[in-house]
Amino acid sequence: MKRTLIAASLVACSFSAAAQTSTEEPNIIYIIGDGMGFEYISAYRYAMSDLETHTVAPIEFDAMLTGAATTYPEDKTWVTDSAAGATALATGEKTYNGAIGVDNDKHPLKTIMEMAKDNGWATGAVSTSQVNHATPASFFNHHPSRYEYNEIADLIAEQVVNGHPSFDVLLGGGRSYFERVDKNWFEILPDYGLAITTDLNSLDEIDETPVLGTFAPKGLPFAIDGDVNALAKMTDAALRLLEPKEGSFALMIEGSEIDWCGHANDIACAVHEMDGLNRALKVVREFQEKHPNTLVVMTADHSTGGLTLGRDGDYAWYSDRVMNIESSISSMVSDLLKLDTEKWAGYVADKVNYDMSEEYIDELMSAADEDEKDRKDALHDALIYITGDITGTGWTTSGHTGVDVPVFARGPHSEAFRGYMNNTDIAKVLIDIVK
Ligand code: MG
Ligand code: ZN
Repeated sequence: MKRTLIAASLVACSFSAAAQTSTEEPNIIYIIGDGMGFEYISAYRYAMSDLETHTVAPIEFDAMLTGAATTYPEDKTWVTDSAAGATALATGEKTYNGAIGVDNDKHPLKTIMEMAKDNGWATGAVSTSQVNHATPASFFNHHPSRYEYNEIADLIAEQVVNGHPSFDVLLGGGRSYFERVDKNWFEILPDYGLAITTDLNSLDEIDETPVLGTFAPKGLPFAIDGDVNALAKMTDAALRLLEPKEGSFALMIEGSEIDWCGHANDIACAVHEMDGLNRALKVVREFQEKHPNTLVVMTADHSTGGLTLGRDGDYAWYSDRVMNIESSISSMVSDLLKLDTEKWAGYVADKVNYDMSEEYIDELMSAADEDEKDRKDALHDALIYITGDITGTGWTTSGHTGVDVPVFARGPHSEAFRGYMNNTDIAKVLIDIVK
């Protein structure tokens, strides 16, 4: 499509620079909320709203909603993992759970980012997970198993060594996979022209590409425990680095840890991850206002946890109580493991800002009876129960679910994302633009 359009503009418009700009392919900003089913959008909207006055908060998501997508993988389950989901969204092909950019026969599938690069586009990704985690990895790499983190980091590094990185900007977590005892890529890659940064708050100083930024050993800390603006900061830096490049760019932005909070059945954690994504969306919207030839598409790879707002027959979900919780369950568990058991109930009451009933204290103290190795899981389960019961939040699984997910689009070509879609069709529309 790119070549045809430019040729047409050259013939028809006598080499006018302005005309050429107006027919140039749009930049593509492709956003994935990992695990972000409709339930998470609802939870976030209510959490930001005022329950007392019934004032519903405006959130960035609402103005962009265009449709819904199915997410099933190519096996007999209907329930996808993030690798098959991301591969579908990056290549337009269904595959098996665990696959990174490969088909059911483990053959590499060309990704939208690789096609964009071949056609002279600039490319990038930002994520709150490690950059070699399933979602970002499926846009730039090919591996039969998502869990071979070191090998996937090696694939990223080898692209740089070979002189043909498929990315210009890659920002997220994952430092420990590049800075290893057996191989320290951070000592090697600068010699091949890769800029490396590990300080999220010095991103403004980066002005060269290709750049790899890793801001945590694995995933970034949860937004509720760490920096809720982390994804917005990385998004801002990526746009600043990609926009001046010749031609269009394609950027993938992942709110990676919505899914992780869902696996942990941790509602406060999930809502704060949604807030982090909403802040990144604000950066994207402001960019799009300045650069209208930008298509923004957002979806989820699947939903996670079987989240429900309301549980046990009660018609209520207490958004104010969700927002009163100050820490993720996982951070509470690591603190509790270091505390004397008689301090547990007081600690939890302080963190959730809610009076601990006898029932809640019993739940918590049942974990004290477990031996060391089972105590962590028992504490986690007790805190799922307590936070769920306080807030009226239900969960059915520690895994993924097969429900449809929302699709959002704004900008040129956004009409192609209306109504019900298969997740592979989202990729196919975008691939048609970069081809
Ligand atoms: Mg992911
Ligand atoms: Zn997941």
